[in-house]
Amino acid sequence: MHIAVIGAGVVGATTAQALSLRGHKVTVIERLGQAGLETSRANAGQRSYGSVYPWASPAMIKKALPWLMQRDGPLKMHIPPSLATLRFLVATWRYAMTPGLFDANKRAMLRLGAYSRECFQSLEENLELDFDGDRGGLIELASSEESLQGLQAKAALLHEMGIAHQLLDPEETYECEPGLARSGPLKGALQVTEDGTGDCHRFTQGIAKACEAEGVRFLYETEVTGVVREQGRLCALTLAANASGAPRESLAADAFVLCAGTDSNEFASHFRLRVPSYPVKGYSLTAPLIDPERAPRSTLVDDLYKVAATRLGTRMRVTGFVELAGYNRQIPERRLATLRKAIDSRFPGAADLKSAEAWTGFRPMTPDGPPIIGAGRERNLYLNTGHGTFGWTFSAAAAQLTAQLIDGEKTAVPLKPFSPQRFD
Ligand SMILES: Cc1cc2nc3c(=O)[nH]c(=O)nc-3n(C[C@H](O)[C@H](O)[C@H](O)COP(=O)(O)OP(=O)(O)OC[C@H]3O[C@@H](n4cnc5c(N)ncnc54)[C@H](O)[C@@H]3O)c2cc1C
Repeated sequence: MHIAVIGAGVVGATTAQALSLRGHKVTVIERLGQAGLETSRANAGQRSYGSVYPWASPAMIKKALPWLMQRDGPLKMHIPPSLATLRFLVATWRYAMTPGLFDANKRAMLRLGAYSRECFQSLEENLELDFDGDRGGLIELASSEESLQGLQAKAALLHEMGIAHQLLDPEETYECEPGLARSGPLKGALQVTEDGTGDCHRFTQGIAKACEAEGVRFLYETEVTGVVREQGRLCALTLAANASGAPRESLAADAFVLCAGTDSNEFASHFRLRVPSYPVKGYSLTAPLIDPERAPRSTLVDDLYKVAATRLGTRMRVTGFVELAGYNRQIPERRLATLRKAIDSRFPGAADLKSAEAWTGFRPMTPDGPPIIGAGRERNLYLNTGHGTFGWTFSAAAAQLTAQLIDGEKTAVPLKPFSPQRFD
């Protein structure tokens, strides 16, 4: 079968790889000049298989207002909010308040995470990928008693689901992460021992290269602008060369997979679908290490500033903020100041923050939280998008599941919680 994949982020690239390995002819269309330049560019680098959770959470709804009021708080919103922001917030509130939904979605996402860990392992074993990847576990810090109680509840669920983890007291936390400053508040931590790290951008480029070696065709600087139907059947995509805006051509294929990240929302109408995802903005700083001994060994989530700090080879990356401001690519200095403050408080002297690279990106967030993986309304259309905060983590599993679905196999993980039709 000839399959067209729209988008060469981490999700599109891994999907192309899974399909090509099964013997399909694959063409990937990407409007930018290389793979992985949009949201997959400089995310927190966590492969947090056992630390995933839905966006629409009753606890988050309670904390949202105090967080919005804090100067260094993790949640930001453009005032006045746009209509799109308000719609997204109302939908989020509705999902968060649906009894039992958060719990069911969290379990579904943890099952997807566990499968993704297996899929990543097989990718790493079979391909020579150089992406500063590691499997040193993920540590969530608790700087207050309330936060520690939250981690204990998380540990109980991980235990029930058979996901490897350990609760750590402060001394054990410092043993796992010797660079962590002893001056900061610390009541304990939860370590999800089989979680991992890695540079998502380098991984995506590595996968794209491996795909090309297997015969996958990448059309870069080419935008998918519409679809062609013959007798009601989806049969081709219309394309435009990005730089010149001309000339248009079309690409015929037997099946189509939408992996366009935050743009899937807008593009979905061509497929007579609704993808109600919203671009949730975040920021990162990536700095070369000065003193590796004082840097994180793996990756940590710090509840104090709500940031993630991750070791990526000879660099460290700190990431934070959940900002509802539409597609605004500005990087205000005050956001970066908070990220620098967070590093200085937990890992002082570890990295050269003066030469840090700043980045902003948009999480393609669904209003409930689970990604969208499944068949569209038309027989030859598939979606693998809406991965929100966890697209790097889920990419390997989501690619395999999409390929299983296209080949008419029973999927390794039930897809109902991820169905595109749940928004109808
Ligand atoms: C601050 C921040 C931190 C994060 N941290 C983590 C983390 O630690 N772990 C984790 O798992 N996830 C994390 N994420 C989320 C993760 O980065 C995303 O979920 C993931 O990158 C989404 O991948 P994608 O391939 O769906 O989208 P993208 O990487 O955005 O790729 C979509 C591609 O589609 C292309 N495209 C769109 N429309 C068209 C069109 N019409 N024609 C042609 N091409 C098109 C775009 O150019 C783009 O390259 C984070 C995100 C942010 C913002």
